[in-house]
Amino acid sequence: MKSVAIIGTGLSGLSLAHHLPPLNITFFEKSWKPGGRISTRKHEQNKFDHGAHYLSIDHGVLGLTDFLEKKDAIKKVDALYTPNFSKNSKKEIKSILIGTQGIETIPMNIHRSLHYKTNFSTKITSIKREKNSYFLHSEDNQFGPFDMVFSCIPFEQAIPLFQEHIDLNNYPKPTFSSIWTVMLGFDKRLGTDLQYGYYLNEKISFFMNQNFKHEQFDQENWVFNMRSDWTDKHYQIESYVLEDFVANEVKKIFDSDARPIFKKSHRWKYANTKKSLRELIGKSFIESVDHKLYILGDWCEGPAMQDAWLAGKKLAKHIKEFSLKAY
Ligand SMILES: Cc1cc2nc3c(=O)[nH]c(=O)nc-3n(C[C@H](O)[C@H](O)[C@H](O)COP(=O)(O)OP(=O)(O)OC[C@H]3O[C@@H](n4cnc5c(N)ncnc54)[C@H](O)[C@@H]3O)c2cc1C
Repeated sequence: MKSVAIIGTGLSGLSLAHHLPPLNITFFEKSWKPGGRISTRKHEQNKFDHGAHYLSIDHGVLGLTDFLEKKDAIKKVDALYTPNFSKNSKKEIKSILIGTQGIETIPMNIHRSLHYKTNFSTKITSIKREKNSYFLHSEDNQFGPFDMVFSCIPFEQAIPLFQEHIDLNNYPKPTFSSIWTVMLGFDKRLGTDLQYGYYLNEKISFFMNQNFKHEQFDQENWVFNMRSDWTDKHYQIESYVLEDFVANEVKKIFDSDARPIFKKSHRWKYANTKKSLRELIGKSFIESVDHKLYILGDWCEGPAMQDAWLAGKKLAKHIKEFSLKAY
């Protein structure tokens, strides 16, 4: 059976592993858990989905909702939302798909069901070729030999790993936006009936209450995403300054005297794809000339979870039809 390495256990890597035929697959993941940008931060019994928030009900990827429902990974909820708070847009009820126990249930349940060996807390720093095989290196280990290696990480992070093997200068660069997210727990309700919405003001592009998603928390939990242009301008802001700034903005906007009792923030350098590989050159992945190294991620298709899933699905189809037949 072919020996395969998958770098990254975000949704694109999990999708690839799920759609490939059974192979001798080993995952490498720099974090201690699967999911990447699909992440739930826990504090005591409180939970904050601070990367991806929800899957659109009309995501358009055939079979994805059914698959996630079978894995008990998602549930459908109706939420009161506004498309543009700062412009006083009408409030509407919208159905969305969220994680059953936080958004991280999506990658956790898929990863668990795959049963492939995973090296967590293992950041791959280089890839070396020996004869017809490849070896992966972390700071203190070498892994391999592998017949095929798949990189399922943001494009920019893949460049240093692959530039020795694939001439990436031949490809236009997919682009990403960066986002600061701020998690706040208040001692009482903020006084809005909205559960989520866009454009709270000219600095905060998205806001979502966490209480309606899960079991009762003992505090009022919210996640706020800063606009990407604001994030670029304030990329180096100190976390505590950002958290206080957002707490005060929010209190002003909702005219609330709620007190923030929990504050945390996270900066996502590669948050959402601005220009995908498909938009740039009509391709869904990048491969080496020997058809043994592949680079993919959400950035091949677009900015959302369904794009990561689609990227893995499309490449698996290609591998089944072409590369595996070559062996
Ligand atoms: C703030 C924010 C809000 C979002 N909101 C939504 C939303 O509401 N709805 C939606 O559909 N999408 C949303 N998204 C986008 C969605 O999260 C991504 O499109 C999707 O999760 C990307 O999956 P991926 O597998 O391509 O990449 P990633 O999730 O980035 O996975 C890459 C994995 O590789 C690992 N890794 C990286 N480098 C190495 C290395 N050298 N060695 C080993 N492991 C490595 C990382 O730790 C990570 O686990 C949001 C993203 C962010 C950041």
